[in-house]
Amino acid sequence: MSSLNPAQSQAVKHVHTPLLVLAGAGSGKTLAITHKLAHLVRSLYYTPESIYAVTFTNKAAREMKERAGKLMGEEAVRLNVSTFHTFGLNFIRQEYKALQLKRSFTLLDEDDSMAMLREAGNLGQLDKQVLFALRHEISNWKNALLTPEQAMAIAKDKDQQLAATAYAAYERTQRACHALDFDDLILLPAACLRDNLDIREKWQDKVRYLLIDEYQDTNGAQYELMKFLAGTRAAFTVVGDDDQSIYAWRGANPENLNILQQDFPKLQVIKLEQNYRSFGRILKCANTLIANNPHLFEKSLWSQKTYGEPLRVLSCKNDEDEAERVVNEIMMRKMRFNLNWKQFAILFRGNHQARLFEKALIEKRIPYKLSGGQSFFAKAEIKDVLAYFRLLVNEDDDAAFLRIVNVPRRDIGAVTIEKLGAYAQRRHGSLLPSSLELGIESELNGRSLTAVRQFAELIRRYAEQARKGDALEAVNELLKAIGYEGWLYEQASSPKVAQSRWQNVQDLVSWLGNHINHPQDPCDFEEAVNRLLLRDMLERSAEEDRNADEVQMLTLHAAKGLEYPHVYMVGMEEELLPHHVSIEEGNIEEERRLAYVGITRAQETLVFSLCKTRKRYGELVHCEPSRFLTELPVDDLQWDDQRNQSEEQKAQVREDRLAALKALLDD
Ligand code: ATP
Ligand code: MG
Repeated sequence: MSSLNPAQSQAVKHVHTPLLVLAGAGSGKTLAITHKLAHLVRSLYYTPESIYAVTFTNKAAREMKERAGKLMGEEAVRLNVSTFHTFGLNFIRQEYKALQLKRSFTLLDEDDSMAMLREAGNLGQLDKQVLFALRHEISNWKNALLTPEQAMAIAKDKDQQLAATAYAAYERTQRACHALDFDDLILLPAACLRDNLDIREKWQDKVRYLLIDEYQDTNGAQYELMKFLAGTRAAFTVVGDDDQSIYAWRGANPENLNILQQDFPKLQVIKLEQNYRSFGRILKCANTLIANNPHLFEKSLWSQKTYGEPLRVLSCKNDEDEAERVVNEIMMRKMRFNLNWKQFAILFRGNHQARLFEKALIEKRIPYKLSGGQSFFAKAEIKDVLAYFRLLVNEDDDAAFLRIVNVPRRDIGAVTIEKLGAYAQRRHGSLLPSSLELGIESELNGRSLTAVRQFAELIRRYAEQARKGDALEAVNELLKAIGYEGWLYEQASSPKVAQSRWQNVQDLVSWLGNHINHPQDPCDFEEAVNRLLLRDMLERSAEEDRNADEVQMLTLHAAKGLEYPHVYMVGMEEELLPHHVSIEEGNIEEERRLAYVGITRAQETLVFSLCKTRKRYGELVHCEPSRFLTELPVDDLQWDDQRNQSEEQKAQVREDRLAALKALLDD
């Protein structure tokens, strides 16, 4: 523990009262949590199983466990380190009976839950945007732990009453299908602990020490969950930075820092003030920017590192030029200083910005990793096969049923589905079992009935095989039985496309196998499917190769908690950062925090870029520099406007690039 500074070491050792570590970016909050895990086990003899740590992403959880492993050895694998949502899922799997769920409950992804809401609320014609807003409203209620009845009681106007009615219908359908959405993973455990003394005591006994990273982004339901777990013993450490709260739209509440003090009067607060991440100038710029926001708590952050070069601003003609220049810059810096690709990150506000950068990187044959873009799990073939998996573990999963009843084609028409749906609704049942009931025989004609029943029987047959025998074998046989590979070839525009889709399916199956046969944590088919689905919902990205040498591309939101030697923050324009929706809603402070998160990811160099014009929805629009650029100290920025360069300078730049490109191709 010698490398920790006195405040950090105090944070690690403090266990007798609840603790809040409130500190700015890069001050070692996450590091302190990791050390504390080791300290609890090695010095205070907690069993690893009794320690629960909550992080913001699965990736962060994996890294924390790994680093804890370096400090405390093998026992680290027994620690409970996860996201809130994974914690919630594990909780629900253990307490499904108390929650009146079947063991094989289903998880809905965002698309599924929108579809279910549309169906349940009879919202067939509703515009997608409006439906989305409605889903969001319901999500807010769930995050505040409000039931549909309570939502109705507080509804302020007719629109909200309609939303509350839709919420009620949606929840009824969810319950009938044993289907949970993202919010339920927090809501159900929190409500269960609140309403159930036995279970509460049991869990408070299990969780001997609780640690939470990125506390500023916990929402109401997560806070309640935390409170019930901590109980009166209140053995917990939470760490956070109110200046990095960037999820207000998801119900996160920086005031949680204040509430904590009220709910736990014995709360001790430790501040960390030394930044170990960034060169001095970067830190100064970050501090200057965030000083424009009002502050609940005063913090000051300093660094012992060198001051570093000025932050550059690349002012580009248009978005294509921007991508080209940023990629050229990266290429040149890598060559000049003999760096690795993975030391570079391109950060942007929205995923749509990534495309041109990808194009430029591909053209230069530079390896890159795009996090959270068009993900593996968003691909149609993956969603199809996952829907089969879901139906195998839960035959009441109507959303899955509807997705695949005609994939591959079985000539089951819309009228048949509609009649089956009406029948199931009358009987308060779900689609698959309903199709096998006697009563449905009088509703459907012979051919349709046979087609639907054959499908239902197929699913039941393989579900049984997966349960009782070798699940992987069952899955492979099912795919063969339905001729899925052939179907992909039929559907695809070229054999090459089909081939890559089939490869994706095989990757998914082998991934399922990895979960089932996981060396430390093997599980049954059902659990493996749930893990796949959860991963889908939380990360929406394929398994990443952490050691690959690739330029990192990610959104500012996804970059929270991470750090890179060389950061490129692109699209520094009004309407993009701050985002136009936030400008309209007058929510500039949150956008400023987002910019602060971006700047504080950089360790050594930081480059901004912006365009004069950009294509937006196919239209060329004029762009203004982001107000956040003007809030930074003038002397620390170096504007690099190509128009102001002499012909000589331009020629030099072109030559440098050519040399860099050549060296790269020779590599
Ligand atoms: P963020 O708010 O961005 O999540 P953080 O407060 O969690 O930042 P860490 O990621 O824990 O900060 O630490 C930032 C960097 O500083 C890491 O590279 C970490 O290893 C390093 N660091 C932290 N404390 C020390 C220390 N006492 N000595 C040396 N390096 C340190
Ligand atoms: Mg951190």
